[in-house]
Amino acid sequence: MEIPKVKLVPTPETQEAKEIVGYKWNPIAGTRHFLGGKPDALGETEYPCCDSCKKPMTFYAQIDSIGDNYDLADCMVIHNFVCFDCFSVKAFLTQTNTL
Ligand SMILES: [Zn+2]
Repeated sequence: MEIPKVKLVPTPETQEAKEIVGYKWNPIAGTRHFLGGKPDALGETEYPCCDSCKKPMTFYAQIDSIGDNYDLADCMVIHNFVCFDCFSVKAFLTQTNTL
């Protein structure tokens, strides 16, 4: 199953939050958030299988590093997968090549 892609845009609501979003020297990292679609730098054959159902899981969301202060191992993203049979989830860090 593939969920249609929905881009997510951070909307920090306080000055403190505004100061942590994005990177000083990288305009792309920190903006690669979305629901559905296909994960950056990860093919469908690399999708995890559900531990209970033993079936490939559905890609649900990509969450980017927030910014310089909360960087995930050099601008990595979190890929989130869900099993629509039992609703278990898995998430892991991925280094993308879309910096
Ligand atoms: Zn399952």
